[in-house]
Amino acid sequence: MNILTRYECGCCKTQYADRDAALKCELNHKCPVDIKAVRYLSIANDNTGYPVTIMVRMGDGHLVAYKRQREV
Ligand SMILES: [Zn+2]
Repeated sequence: MNILTRYECGCCKTQYADRDAALKCELNHKCPVDIKAVRYLSIANDNTGYPVTIMVRMGDGHLVAYKRQREV
């Protein structure tokens, strides 16, 4: 019988045989801190009510833009 040890990144859930690789993956992820800006379209152009873009402040201080890709 063989015993297998796997390490899982706590953020993306990817599994690794190597602990350092899993740790490197986990430390590479930047976590969102707060939403800095939100853009909506009028009801005539988008009746979903959801934002089309948001600007997110990450833990490392960078601002990253996210765009809605499909209708909800
Ligand atoms: Zn990861």
